[in-house]
Amino acid sequence: MYFNIQRFSTHDGDGIRSILFLKGCSLACPWCQNPESRSPDLSLLYDQRLCLSDCNLCQDKSDHINRDDNDVLTIDRDCLTTNDIENLRDVCPSQALTVCGKEETVDELCEQLLKDKPFYLQSEGGVTFSGGEPLLQPDMVSAIASRMHEEGINTAVETCLHVPWKNIEKVLPHIDCWLTDLKHTDNDIFLSWAHGSLKRIHSNLEKLAKHAKRIIIRVPVVPGFNDNEVALKKIIDFAAGLDNCDELHLLPYHTLGINKYQLLDMPYLCADKPLNKPELLETACSYASTHPVQTINVKIRG
Ligand code: SF4
Repeated sequence: MYFNIQRFSTHDGDGIRSILFLKGCSLACPWCQNPESRSPDLSLLYDQRLCLSDCNLCQDKSDHINRDDNDVLTIDRDCLTTNDIENLRDVCPSQALTVCGKEETVDELCEQLLKDKPFYLQSEGGVTFSGGEPLLQPDMVSAIASRMHEEGINTAVETCLHVPWKNIEKVLPHIDCWLTDLKHTDNDIFLSWAHGSLKRIHSNLEKLAKHAKRIIIRVPVVPGFNDNEVALKKIIDFAAGLDNCDELHLLPYHTLGINKYQLLDMPYLCADKPLNKPELLETACSYASTHPVQTINVKIRG
């Protein structure tokens, strides 16, 4: 189950890459820019601005979509089943209503990904698995990544590592670069923002660092969560204590995903302005570059 293939990306690994976005997430961080990835099943997005007032096509297809007294479309999301959502695919003429998520086989996905093989090879790029949390579908990732390796194509995965270790073990031989999140080191603060166990993430990261070919730690710097010197220094300390890890990317919080929360009828619980603390990021960079345990190369990524 995936929801997008983004071609010609240059942000999620080396060179020119295709990003395969898989559905389902085990953390549900409130700042996520892909909230449509959270559910492992199909999701329905509705953009009221695009809805045609003289159209009833979606209401004819579903008993759970109606117009209220003001002629505004209402969707009873609690009652919609996966089948109901599938029946709404391609119904809307204006793309006001769109279905997120599609099931395809390994062969079908490989065929799409291999279309850009010449670009991957020329640019030393490849294929990146993202999400959602791609390691919730380890069989799929492992099968596609091994096929890419047979073609001489580099593979990377973006993961929060909040999955059973056996899922990681399954894909480990087939992944060249691990882009792994390390969002916090304080379990209580982490738990008050995300659903999950920081202990599991740290334990997986420590094990992974002993086996992975390459790891890049990624830290979303989020207002009110970890945008302070103490939190960032502790994250850098943790990274410096790992085997085989000398690269860390700081990802300053932005608000580009807010609109999607409206389309999904989900509340947005984070700040409505991007992070603006350049001094904090510079302090973190210089702390990492002179770290007594292991020098960490920090990049600030947009
Ligand atoms: S099918 Fe699309 S345009 Fe027509 S009523 Fe539904 S959301 Fe609006």
